[in-house]
Parts: sequence; C-alpha cells; structure tokens
Amino acid sequence: MKYAFGVLLCSLAGLRGAMPLLAQNDLDQRVAKELDSLVATYKHLHENPELSTQEKESSALVAAELRKIGYDVTDHFGQYDSPGLISYGIVGVLRNGSGPTVYVRTDMDALPIVENTGLPYASHVKVKRADGAEVGVMHACGHDIHMSVFLGTARMLAQLKQQWSGTLVMLGQPAEETVGGAHAMLRAGLFTKFPKPDYVLALHDGSDLPAGKVGWHEGSILAGADSVDIIVRGYGGHGAAPQRAKDPILIASEIVVALQTIVSREMDPQIPTVVTVGSFHAGTKHNIIPDEAHLQLTVRTMTPVQREKVLAAITRITKGIAAAAGVPADRAPIIEVAKDNVPATINNPELTRRVAAALERGLGKENVLPGEPAMASEDFSLYALEDPKPPICMFHLGAADPAKWQAAKETGARLPGPHSAEFAPVPEPTIRTGVKAMTSAVLELLKK
Ligand SMILES: [Zn+2]
Ligand SMILES: [Zn+2]
Repeated sequence: MKYAFGVLLCSLAGLRGAMPLLAQNDLDQRVAKELDSLVATYKHLHENPELSTQEKESSALVAAELRKIGYDVTDHFGQYDSPGLISYGIVGVLRNGSGPTVYVRTDMDALPIVENTGLPYASHVKVKRADGAEVGVMHACGHDIHMSVFLGTARMLAQLKQQWSGTLVMLGQPAEETVGGAHAMLRAGLFTKFPKPDYVLALHDGSDLPAGKVGWHEGSILAGADSVDIIVRGYGGHGAAPQRAKDPILIASEIVVALQTIVSREMDPQIPTVVTVGSFHAGTKHNIIPDEAHLQLTVRTMTPVQREKVLAAITRITKGIAAAAGVPADRAPIIEVAKDNVPATINNPELTRRVAAALERGLGKENVLPGEPAMASEDFSLYALEDPKPPICMFHLGAADPAKWQAAKETGARLPGPHSAEFAPVPEPTIRTGVKAMTSAVLELLKK
C-alpha cells in the first residue's frame, strides 16, 4: 500500500516541476510536526514584544534556537550610529558543501502600540520612553510571525540537508521599525565577516491576503522614504508693519501649496509618488511676524531616479519661491534631507520569478498570487545596495483570517492590518504556509 502510494506520487511528480511530490509531501509532514512548537513560540513572542533596539530576549530566543539545531551563531552583531547602543543582531550560518550562499532575514522588533485584539496571548507589556511617558508595546507589524517562520525554516533546512548544497545564513535583524537595524549590521561588516551573499530573501505578513496564500511582485514593491526639513527664513517684525518684514509664514504657505505640483505636474502619473507636509511650525503670537517657519515633509518614491527628481524639485521650488518673495540669497531657505533615508525595496526580477515558481511548486499554484506594490518602506532594501549588491526578494505572506478576509472583500468590512492595534494574524495557517514557502524558495536556490 505504501509502495503503491509512492508510485502514484512519483508518477504525478513531473506535473509539479523541480520539487517532486514525494519531497513536497515530506516537507508538509515535517512542517506539521514542528507546527505546535512554532505556534507556542509565536504566542510567547507575541505576548512579550520588545521595541526597536531593545530586542534582548527575542534575539536570545532566536540565537538559542539556531544554536540548538546546529547553526554557527554570532550574536550582538551590528554597530549603531549612537555609541553605547547594543545591537541584538543575530547571524546563524549553516555550511553544507559547495554552492551559492542564501541569506534569509527576519526582523524582530515591535511597535509602541497598546494592543487591542482581545486575544488570550495579547501583549500587556508597557515600557517607559526616554521622556518618561509609558507606552504599550505590541507586535503590530507581525515580526513575531516572521521570527516563528524563520525558526521553522531554519529547522526544515537543517533537517533537509541532503536536499541542498551551499551555505545558508539566517539573519535576525533588530530595529526595522526605526530603520537602523539593517544599516547597523551592514556597517559592522555583515557581507565581509560572513559568507558573501548570492541571494537575500525575506517575507512580510499582512492582511491583504488570507492565511494560506502568498503574493509576489517583481521590481519596486515598497517605496523609498525620505524625511526633509525646510527652514524658511525671512525677517521678523511687527504684525502691523509687514512692509518692514519678510513674512516667512506666507512664503512657507506658498511653498506647501507649490510642492503639491511636483506629484500632479512633474512626475509620471504611472509611477506612484507621495510628497506630504506633515508639520508646519512658525511664530509665537498674533502680532509678531517671525523670523522663520519650519516645514517637515515625508517623500515616498519607487526608484532612485524618481527620488532624485523629487528632491531636486523640492529644492528648486522652495528656493524659487523664497527668491520670488525677495528673500536675499544669504537668507535662502535651508533644506535638509535626513541621512537615515530608506531606499525603495526593489525585488530583483530574475530572482523573484525563480522564487515565485518555487512558491507555486511548494504551495500549489492557486495559493500564489501576484501582489501589489505599496508606499510603505522597509530597510530590507539596504541589503541590495551593499557590495556585492546581491539580488533580493521579499514576498508577502497572507495572515488574515480567511473568513474575515472574504467578508471584507464582499462587504467592505474593516480588516485591521499591520500597525493597527487590532492586527491579529491567524497563527497556524500563517506559520505553516510561511515555513513551507520560505523553505521551498531556499531549496530552489540551493538545489543540487
Ligand atoms: Zn512595520
Ligand atoms: Zn514590518
């Protein structure tokens, strides 16, 4: 009986491409065996979230688990800008003969949000911020799902060593939400102190897809984000004597309005761009014209060329309006683009198509869907820019309750997603699918 079943599986194997059904069946069974412990780990992580740069216990758990299953682990890897800040970065290496090197990255940090899911394993963690205020902490971006899938994938690939050849590097990255973690690990020499990557993979969960499904998109998938500060300088004076002043509030107001023409008149309407003025501060009193006005902008772009174009337009418009208002050159606006910008996340097309084909084989075609780019940002993008500039690919992991997802689709009911206090991934199917998906992708890239 067993034999006959095996023959039947093998005879169908050709239909599924490179991963024969027998191997697929083996992976399904192995994941099923680990699922209870992975879900328990998930619930523990969810109940005990840690803010960016404070991932002490989460990273210790990830490191201990990787060591237990045979990875060569380096912990506390990374170098932040601020001296004295410890990095909780983890690098776990599993060498398995000759072949390419694949990095799999998880993030580990949570958000300052008071959880409102009502789940039995909801977080009640509260921490004091630097200013003394108390904030709730919640894994509202699902990085706890990412860690659980990451550990499941690490276990699978350690168990399935006979099916692949090469080097696997499991990367536990801190501080994604505050955009310092990837930079800290790269600055400390990630790609020189550890094997050079041929590919870097990651996934992100969300409620755009139901649990059981994954989505992919080649090219730009997440926007680049820049923070821009503009100080508009005029000459202060009495509010009753505007002729003796140069009013920075009026000039800054004209700048705010004119900046909106960048998206509407200068950029290709087919390529999404966002320019938002999120903060406008000036003045102290009704009858005083202040010396300065301060604007703060967020800029979202999908390519480096587009980014340069938008930043140049901001500078041109800002300086031009100030000059037109008669502000002398030595009082020209000061425009500062923050150094900690995040570039757009661009999925390497060739790698992404290869990963997508592996996902279809691993999960079934019906569970792998084309995804949509979003204007959110990720510091995963940085790994593609560091020498040897490896191809990167991040795919989407459905985490929504399938029934709620269906209802939301049909009736427009609200479905809380990442960064919401009510974001509640369904653990079992999400983790099961994530482990199968990531393992299938790595097996494809490291196949013998
Ligand atoms: Zn997030
Ligand atoms: Zn996230």
